Amino acid sequence: MKRVVILGGGSGGAAAARRLSRWSLPGEVEVVLIDRSPWHDYRPDYLWVMTGLREPDEARRPLSLLTPRYGTRVVQAAVTAIDPDARRVDTDSGGSFEYDYLIVALGAVVRDDPVSHGLEAPWELDFAMDARKRVAGFEGGRVVVSPMETHRCPPAPFEVAFMLRYLAEQRGVLDKTSLTVAYPAARPMQSFGPLMVAGFGGFLEQYGIAFEPDFHLAGNDREAKVLRSADGRELPYDFAMLVPPHEPPEPVRSSPLAADSGYMDVVLPSMASPRYPNAYGIGDVVAPTIGLGMAGVFAHLQAEHVVSRILDDVRGAYMGELYNMVGVCVMDAGYMGVGVWCDFTDKLAGRATDPDCRMLGGMRVFRALKVAFEKYWFANVFGS
Ligand SMILES: Cc1cc2nc3c(=O)[nH]c(=O)nc-3n(C[C@H](O)[C@H](O)[C@H](O)COP(=O)(O)OP(=O)(O)OC[C@H]3O[C@@H](n4cnc5c(N)ncnc54)[C@H](O)[C@@H]3O)c2cc1C
Repeated sequence: MKRVVILGGGSGGAAAARRLSRWSLPGEVEVVLIDRSPWHDYRPDYLWVMTGLREPDEARRPLSLLTPRYGTRVVQAAVTAIDPDARRVDTDSGGSFEYDYLIVALGAVVRDDPVSHGLEAPWELDFAMDARKRVAGFEGGRVVVSPMETHRCPPAPFEVAFMLRYLAEQRGVLDKTSLTVAYPAARPMQSFGPLMVAGFGGFLEQYGIAFEPDFHLAGNDREAKVLRSADGRELPYDFAMLVPPHEPPEPVRSSPLAADSGYMDVVLPSMASPRYPNAYGIGDVVAPTIGLGMAGVFAHLQAEHVVSRILDDVRGAYMGELYNMVGVCVMDAGYMGVGVWCDFTDKLAGRATDPDCRMLGGMRVFRALKVAFEKYWFANVFGS
């Protein structure tokens, strides 16, 4: 029996565990999943934890549920080192694990930073609970949302702005509220191509949300309540939501699997390491390397693709699961959802500079779809 070790039980890791169990034959593979947390977090829910629409336990499930459901051996321990030459992973408290196949799904790690400290947007569950306290006392004013460089879910800072606008309206303070997204790019949704820039820009305008371009957040004068960009611009605020910086997980950065950026190096479309073909990377831990944004939908579809490749290899047969390079994102804008759809096939193959994207627009049904997908995710992967 071949052993598949999955590092990380987030969107990519949990989807891989499920697929391995559903697609493998009895006795074909043994699956070990290692995560330092006992929980699988469904991170899009953090925004609703912030506004009080979800409690923390509604936004996560115990990873231990994977054992009775899929036969996955779940180890709660921090991965400390990956040695792809020895095909071994070391952990701080769970021992070492040798593998035949490795799936690295350790995501990106959010770092505490003096600029964003105390004003964090809900990019981790504890930040979401802190943000909830701040949002409870939210009374409008000059609102600034600003992410610090690469971050999970590029559209989500805009979603935070949409949600704060909705709250301002609900609380009757919209007339004394201004909203600005200060973003480290020239245009909103720039990496998604001109159609999306135009469509999304129009949507921001319609909602009265200003866009401050090329804002690389570098400083925060807390007394004066002023944010500073690297090029010296100043943005005063009464209420700020700052997305802290993200970095590659240390066991990846310090392993031979890392690219120069520290995130995992993989080749497309296999998602395997160029030097270690039995080590695969999926999700946020490879997103900067392959030029994709950090999104659960990518992690999920890459997990399915990689599982199919592993089972092909175990069986010496070709099952024919292609990597579906499509991403869909729905943002909650309060009264409605804003949907976007993108196909990255040509971009990732180097045939186009931008993905082929469509702005699906703002409709109430998209918000319902966002809720429906959350229910589907938990039911499909965890059974409830
Ligand atoms: C506010 C917000 C809204 C979002 N909305 C959307 C959305 O609408 N649509 C969408 O597609 N995506 C969305 N995302 C992005 C999505 O959540 C991530 O892209 C997705 O979770 C990435 O999956 P992953 O498996 O790569 O990593 P993760 O889900 O981050 O999982 C990584 C796992 O690795 C574990 N880990 C890390 N380091 C170690 C270590 N050293 N040892 C052991 N375990 C470790 C962590 O505990 C974690 O469980 C959103 C994210 C945020 C923050």
